[in-house]
Amino acid sequence: MTSTAAGVVIVGGGQAGFTVASTLRVSGYDAPVTVLAAEPHPPYQRPPLSKKAHTDPHDLRVELVPESFYRDRDIDLRLGDETIALDLAAHTALTRTGTTVFYDHLVLATGARNRPLPVPGAELPGVHALRSLDEALAIGRALTTARDVVVVGGGFIGLELARVAHARGARVTVVELADRLLGRAVSAELEPWLRQRHERAGVRILTGTAVRALEGAGRVEQVVTDHEVLPADLVVYGIGAVPRDELAGRAGLAVRDGVLVDERLRSVTDPRVFAVGDCARCPHPQADGPVRLESVQNAVDQGALVARRIAGSADTAGPYRNLPWFWSDQGDVKLQIAGLRSNGDEVRVVPRDTAERLAAYAFRDDLLVAVETLNWPAEHLAARRMLERGTPVSAADLAETTLGALARAGRTAEVRR
Ligand SMILES: Cc1cc2nc3c(=O)[nH]c(=O)nc-3n(C[C@H](O)[C@H](O)[C@H](O)COP(=O)(O)OP(=O)(O)OC[C@H]3O[C@@H](n4cnc5c(N)ncnc54)[C@H](O)[C@@H]3O)c2cc1C
Repeated sequence: MTSTAAGVVIVGGGQAGFTVASTLRVSGYDAPVTVLAAEPHPPYQRPPLSKKAHTDPHDLRVELVPESFYRDRDIDLRLGDETIALDLAAHTALTRTGTTVFYDHLVLATGARNRPLPVPGAELPGVHALRSLDEALAIGRALTTARDVVVVGGGFIGLELARVAHARGARVTVVELADRLLGRAVSAELEPWLRQRHERAGVRILTGTAVRALEGAGRVEQVVTDHEVLPADLVVYGIGAVPRDELAGRAGLAVRDGVLVDERLRSVTDPRVFAVGDCARCPHPQADGPVRLESVQNAVDQGALVARRIAGSADTAGPYRNLPWFWSDQGDVKLQIAGLRSNGDEVRVVPRDTAERLAAYAFRDDLLVAVETLNWPAEHLAARRMLERGTPVSAADLAETTLGALARAGRTAEVRR
């Protein structure tokens, strides 16, 4: 079955795929725009899925736009039909239902999937991972009766869910293999503060602890770790994500833990193909090598840039260099990150007042490169503004003051690049 679409074909109907499609139309692109989406739901936001318990799909307002949006803009949104093969020579995408779609430009926006939990019993009923709307609904339903919840993985999603489960009245234990929470994402200097907040709220946290097996007769009943056995009627795991790059790899595009793209987000193998969002690995001026970022900001900014480039907007000739930023709401903690920190950076943590707002400032060669804040949105916004503008800020500049105060004093007028 052949459907002659041509124009732009986007594989993946998530945050990045949606942004490409909508920005193409905003940018005046008037050839066909087709979104090939594996999930049965129109594009939706994932962040709310881990920030509260969901039981009724009708209560969930996570769709990015109403379905009429696609009709009104002549965007051909094809749901529930996974793309299974690409033919780079023929410029076609083949879907599971047997439809072949031609493209002038192909955009891969296939996102990431959860890393599977590699222990016996991970397939038992009562064990869940969280990425999709359907998984969030299943966890929400399980939380209505669960008394003992074990969260495997002390990353963003795990900690958010731990606080959600605790707020629903469950006893919650977080089991983390590394010797601290949020190992990859947050500085070692900030982590003890965060951990303390969660423990004080009543969440038990076991770091340096490996899960060996999940056990139960017919459904999960306990989690066996290398230190103790934990009762569990619900287990949720979040131990990282892997990019969905296998479609690209099978087609002959270069992949390395993500689809390899250049600084203009074009495949390094085929100039007609772009990749954006969680599935793309691209150079970034703040990183040593090509990076793959998993955030809404990255999906939206990359999607918009590619769409404007395809539509021919003159303002997008430059490389992708948008400042990375991120947020995570974990019960009474709002964690926000601006910029990219790397291991060698020098980090200073500054508590500010009794409301327990605090910030960790990371410096490279004595210049501010990243800021992590807890419950301090104003400082996060000031950080974003300064880092985006390239305002030089040294550790001495921040010895007695905040970024917000520096910005108010007019420091943002000094532009580094
Ligand atoms: C529970 C959760 C909470 C999060 N919270 C935050 C947060 O607080 N802040 C933040 O910045 N980020 C957060 N994120 C990350 C953020 O949601 C992602 O970075 C963002 O959704 C990436 O967008 P994407 O379009 O690249 O991928 P996705 O949104 O994952 O979309 C990819 C889509 O492509 C589809 N697909 C894959 N392969 C194919 C194929 N072969 N054919 C057709 N379709 C295909 C998938 O089914 C999926 O629907 C969260 C993520 C999760 C899972």
